[in-house]
Amino acid sequence: MKIVMLGAPGAGKGTQAKMLADKYAIPHISTGDIFRANMKEGTPLGKKAKEFMDAGALVPDELTVDLVLDRIGREDCKNGYILDGFPRTINQAEKLTEALSSQGGDIDFAVNVDVPDESIIKRMAGRRMCPSCGASYHVVNIPPKKEGVCDRCGADLITRKDDQPETVKNRLSVYHEQTQPLYDYYKEKGLVVDVDGTKPMEEVFKAITDRLGE
Ligand code: AMP
Repeated sequence: MKIVMLGAPGAGKGTQAKMLADKYAIPHISTGDIFRANMKEGTPLGKKAKEFMDAGALVPDELTVDLVLDRIGREDCKNGYILDGFPRTINQAEKLTEALSSQGGDIDFAVNVDVPDESIIKRMAGRRMCPSCGASYHVVNIPPKKEGVCDRCGADLITRKDDQPETVKNRLSVYHEQTQPLYDYYKEKGLVVDVDGTKPMEEVFKAITDRLGE
């Protein structure tokens, strides 16, 4: 099963993507995670991506498309995958469609996790992550056992630079301008599954899997 996650940054699509990857035993491919791992390792890609990410802007398509097409061509993707954070522009979506149609296929579902902007701004203000192992938390919704400390590895939690309020506003306007048109793109193909992302995590997950099947 090949799935694309749609929805604004902070809508909870990453959390759902991880749960879906477990359920369907397919890889969860998050372009944001790939860029952050590269930044942490100080690779040339990470250095280039950092300036865009810190500003809440999109990393240019030249740095993004081939990376994803290469990743989905690997052996562990032969039964499908979940793309989280890609595509984010119509150009990226077209490149993905072209690559898949050259193999005679397309994605199976575009899951749209819908959350209004006001709720997103509130959610992101509470988001924390572990700079050491990458675990994510939320001060209200998914608090660590000890405040400010990672349950998994004991490191001090941080607020991602791109989760700071000003950057969040910028990311949302980038989303509305460049990424939201993907909804219509996949709707026209009849692939969209809409879910209400303001509901509790387990309910959102059930709504998605009811539509995708066992
Ligand atoms: P995310 O973790 O998905 O919210 O991504 C964090 C940041 O990584 C975004 O704000 C962008 O700067 C960058 N990024 C992730 N995926 C893409 C993509 N498909 N195209 C361009 N930039 C991306």
